[in-house]
Amino acid sequence: MGQAIPGTLLLASRNPHKLREFSRLLAPAGIEVIPLPDGIELPPEIGDTFEANARPKARAAADATGMVAIADDSGIEAEALDGRPGVRSARYAGLDATDQENLEKLRAEAPAGSRLRYVCELAYAPPGAPGAERMFRGCCHGRMAPAPRGSRGFGYDPVFMPDGDWGGRTMAQLDDAEKDGISHRGRAVAELLAWLAPDG
Ligand code: IMP
Repeated sequence: MGQAIPGTLLLASRNPHKLREFSRLLAPAGIEVIPLPDGIELPPEIGDTFEANARPKARAAADATGMVAIADDSGIEAEALDGRPGVRSARYAGLDATDQENLEKLRAEAPAGSRLRYVCELAYAPPGAPGAERMFRGCCHGRMAPAPRGSRGFGYDPVFMPDGDWGGRTMAQLDDAEKDGISHRGRAVAELLAWLAPDG
């Protein structure tokens, strides 16, 4: 027996790309993803690990709304940089850096062909139950592209060439279903769904 599958999950994020991806990933299970209402403050991302950032975001959103909430903290780790930028992926080139600036900095530092890994830590938090959060992790392995290519996805996708038989395409050249099938977020959601409905 699994958990009761919630019909809706609140996403504790203001990142529209994440909202789109989680909505796509959870719709086949009959789960609607609700965006975070205005006025709800999320804790700052000051943790040293993805888990330390994701867990309090989901807890804060669940307790502020009375809804079951999910939050992910995700990022990219470069082997050539001892795992950087990691939890600092969103602000690698500076606090207000754009995706483009972050990507250019990574390109300048990690050689073409070097190993990369996307990581997603997904927190699931029922409201009013501190300590009852569950964590689900997904990774996606790949390498640095020789040059940015593609316009889909977001963030570092134009320079991330996933492992596997993708004809040398970057993540930003895969279609939605292709990305969802191999992405760190897709894999974390698969773990969540397996826990919610182990027989499903
Ligand atoms: P945070 O989880 O809000 O701290 O932000 C994660 C950051 O990691 C994003 O701003 C992107 O730079 C990067 N990132 C996370 N997931 C992806 C992805 O699926 N594609 C590209 N970049 C990603």
